[in-house]
Amino acid sequence: MERVIVIGSGPAGLTAAIYAARANLKPLVLAGGLYGGQLMLTTEVENYPGFPEGIQGPDLMIRFREQAERFGARIENVDVTSVELTNKPLTVRTPDAEYQSKTVIVATGASARWLDIPGEERLRGRGVSTCATCDGAFFREKHIVVVGGGDSAMEEALFLTRFGKRVTVIHRRDSLRASKIMVDRAKSHEKMDFIWNTVVDEMIGDTHLRALRLRNLLDGSSYEFEADAIFIAIGHTPNTDIFKGQLNLDAAGYIVSPDGCATNLDGVFVAGDVNDIRYKQAITAAGAGCRAAMDAEKYLEALEFAVKLEQPA
Ligand code: NAP
Repeated sequence: MERVIVIGSGPAGLTAAIYAARANLKPLVLAGGLYGGQLMLTTEVENYPGFPEGIQGPDLMIRFREQAERFGARIENVDVTSVELTNKPLTVRTPDAEYQSKTVIVATGASARWLDIPGEERLRGRGVSTCATCDGAFFREKHIVVVGGGDSAMEEALFLTRFGKRVTVIHRRDSLRASKIMVDRAKSHEKMDFIWNTVVDEMIGDTHLRALRLRNLLDGSSYEFEADAIFIAIGHTPNTDIFKGQLNLDAAGYIVSPDGCATNLDGVFVAGDVNDIRYKQAITAAGAGCRAAMDAEKYLEALEFAVKLEQPA
């Protein structure tokens, strides 16, 4: 019987693991096949406190992991396939094992969204991607398109200027949602240009992306636009499929936790992007991971004290 299982290994999951490990709870972290969460797919992180020169996302996550392991967290790089959280003990399954625990901290994060338009799925990995750090280098001296108007889109586009001969941002409105510093950098970059009030309706190409069908939302005109690669950066979907029917989710699929890190189920706590529709920062996720671990520790203390009282003197 585990005392704490953490599902997920981004800043939220690994901070929960650091705190739970330092409380001597020997947490088991089911980290997912690829540990580290979304920061493993980013480049420079400039706003995580403590790194005045910035730090690469993967390097930051390696540090989180080493810190958790130093205090006794056990980290397994496996995906959780199903859970049973409505009965005690709480049960968590992976392809090869079934674990039981008194508490579970859900920190499964969120995954990049796709446009869901014709051609997108067929051309994935052939010029269509959601990860500039993974795939950008394939498009040296090519024309690259980025879709989206938020910080992710600006970050991806600026990174892609290292490779592409031109980077065009296509946005459905005429103003960007991204923070001012990112907007200023993007708008002043010589390799970048913008197409406003426009959506992508289709991705065109046989073996590789060749063009996009674009539609101007103001006048409805539709036209083909040549591009060698497209990176989609239109936000994220919370990773909550395995919790459906057990944890309360909102309409967008985020786990609902009206009171701090507690969920609708006893002993189950939540942290990070999987229930954060608003901030979605590494630092806020880490803070939530800390809170979830402290709440789990309090819950365990009360639970184990109650069991002691029930035992005959
Ligand atoms: P986001 O802020 O939600 O932005 C998503 C963008 O995609 C918006 O511009 C949105 O358009 C557009 N969009 C959404 N659905 C679309 C669709 N179906 N077709 C076309 N466009 C679509 O997501 P994000 O950029 O991933 O950022 C998420 C959070 O992480 C934010 O809080 C952000 O500040 C943070 N973040 C911070 C950094 C950093 O500080 N370095 C880096 C990355 C992310 P509308 O604007 O019209 O809604």
